[in-house]
Amino acid sequence: MEAPGRKVAISLDTDDWSLRSNLTLPAEPMSLLDWLPFVQALGTYASRAAADGAREAGRRVSCAAGCAACCRHMAPVSPPEALALARLVESLPEPRRSEVRARFAAAVARARDAGLLDGAAAATRSREEQSRAYFNLQIACPFLDNELCSIHDARPLACREYLVTSPPEACATLDEARVSPLPTRVNLMESLARAGARTLGLPAAAIPLILSLEWSKTLDPARDRPGDPLEMLRVLLGEIGEFRVET
Ligand code: SF4
Repeated sequence: MEAPGRKVAISLDTDDWSLRSNLTLPAEPMSLLDWLPFVQALGTYASRAAADGAREAGRRVSCAAGCAACCRHMAPVSPPEALALARLVESLPEPRRSEVRARFAAAVARARDAGLLDGAAAATRSREEQSRAYFNLQIACPFLDNELCSIHDARPLACREYLVTSPPEACATLDEARVSPLPTRVNLMESLARAGARTLGLPAAAIPLILSLEWSKTLDPARDRPGDPLEMLRVLLGEIGEFRVET
């Protein structure tokens, strides 16, 4: 018989939004990666709150299916997300798995050949120069199919949180004056990266999405140690905002 879960009530207040919710925690230890769907749900919740705020201010989010200009930027992911993406690719059936792996390899090779991932050239460029040079290469995200995200439900936090109210065609340019992203003060990707550093000893810095497979291979699988779900939840919420957990 399955062990009964522990019910908790959480309250979370951030600079952008607040959440009150009840959760049932499993009795068994959980990996930080098991928390990813919860953090992704928070990302969706945060995006909706930001879109609602924009609408009340008379602006409308223009992001829609079929517009994928931002999927040609160097999307950042937290190390726990990179690990989850690598596992997702491994779980794909063939021949899809090989196809996606090949896209990752081709994207990394192009960016590396252009000196955008490592080496002296990458070290001397500013982040903005790096992003511009990457966008100019028009490397599509390996998960992009016919201008649609093939992993929409599992897409990274950065992809969920980036929404604009400017005309879609402006995103296909590098003219920042024409692009109006929704302002957000909470960055869930960075929160998750910090939680990964605290609980699993992962690097706290984000990495380019296209390096997810390569980077994950360098990691000792034992690093992803499961821990007490309540303790993990507290670490996670503490990296996001002011929180209370009632058991
Ligand atoms: S994961 Fe999906 S939404 Fe994010 S950059 Fe790739 S295709 Fe676009």
